[in-house]
Amino acid sequence: MTTTTDVDPNDVDSAAELARAIAAGELIAVFQPQVDLQTGRIAAVEALSRWDHPVLGHIGPDDYIPLAERTGAIHAIGALMLDTGCGYAEELASLGRDVDVAVNVSVAQLSSAAFYDHLETNVVVFQLRPDAVTLEITESLAILDLGAVSAHLARARRRGYGISIDDFGVGFSTMRQLDRLPVTELKIDQSLLRDDSVNGRAQMTALVAVGLERDLRVVAEGVETQHDVDRVRDLGCHRAQGFFFAKALARPAMDELLAAA
Ligand code: C2E
Ligand code: CA
Ligand code: CA
Repeated sequence: MTTTTDVDPNDVDSAAELARAIAAGELIAVFQPQVDLQTGRIAAVEALSRWDHPVLGHIGPDDYIPLAERTGAIHAIGALMLDTGCGYAEELASLGRDVDVAVNVSVAQLSSAAFYDHLETNVVVFQLRPDAVTLEITESLAILDLGAVSAHLARARRRGYGISIDDFGVGFSTMRQLDRLPVTELKIDQSLLRDDSVNGRAQMTALVAVGLERDLRVVAEGVETQHDVDRVRDLGCHRAQGFFFAKALARPAMDELLAAA
């Protein structure tokens, strides 16, 4: 019996179930395209994880990523996404298609030397340019222990990897923290695009400008309509991602979309 207060007893069973699922190969990657707003080309795919549960069907990441972060299973999931994403980019390159890959990276991974070793191994094994691989930092910058990760990230940046601030504009991300990280891309949180109030529109415009002024690639998320596409293109966003183009697709469907593009 444990007296530790920060362990949720429900986690114990769920953690065992998640570990079983990872070992059984039930965690898979699906891919969502990012479209270049100037050319209309699919410039990148973001790897998003799904739990393909034998009884419950597809379980979304919001239902197991927080648990995986608490138990450390996030390292195995992150490694799987990195391998699957890089493998896909290599396959596409062998077909003559230049498509970047983006993976979501949790804070625990960012402070792990093994994660960067794995990244380095993958670009060699899969013969990828480092700038074809973007690390999306999902967590709020405020909780990020910059001391522990900034040296790792700076090295990754010098090596040429893309570093993206995901969900930019919500939470506690501030300009000052942004300037302390070696960032190459901002992904504007989709809630900003959804907010059609005067205030919301002004915020969206300002956040895109933050990226453009710093010469960062700016990606709009949650683009659902032609109106959204026109708006984010007019604001100067470089790329867009969202249901207007495609939802996250498993491999055969994503292959077909790319072949038709
Ligand atoms: P995210 O990285 O911000 O990913 C975008 C989420 O928005 C995805 O949800 C995607 O399916 C959804 N989405 C995309 N386009 C649209 C749209 O036009 N409209 C709307 N309403 N939604 C859209 P998903 O796949 O459920 O992922 C949720 C979050 O889970 C991700 O947010 C990411 O933070 C996290 N996540 C997913 N896979 C991984 C992973 O392998 N590792 C880590 N650390 N986090 C992951
Ligand atoms: Ca993301
Ligand atoms: Ca996001």
